Amino acid sequence: MIKKHLPPIYLKSAEKTSVPIDRRVFLERTIGLLVGAGIVASCFQSATAAEKYSKADVNYQDTPKDGQSCANCKFWDGAGGCEIVEGEIAEDTWCSVWVEV
Ligand code: SF4
Repeated sequence: MIKKHLPPIYLKSAEKTSVPIDRRVFLERTIGLLVGAGIVASCFQSATAAEKYSKADVNYQDTPKDGQSCANCKFWDGAGGCEIVEGEIAEDTWCSVWVEV
């Protein structure tokens, strides 16, 4: 339907070149997207790994505080680690970014 409204010379040119150009453009864009996604993913992983706080940054202490401890914190992994604070984390300790489970 659209072809009926275009001038014949334009249609001829477009029909001759549309398939090879479309494939090339598709491949270029697909490769570009994959490379871009890989770069973004690697940056995100690096940023995630680098975003853990040190114990000093969060006033980590070896005892619970006012009923708050790593054992009842949202970020404790239950196996001696914390999602946002680096190093070994015991369940009966605490830091200033504690968040209730
Ligand atoms: S209290 Fe602090 S160190 Fe403990 S699990 Fe929560 S965020 Fe991590």
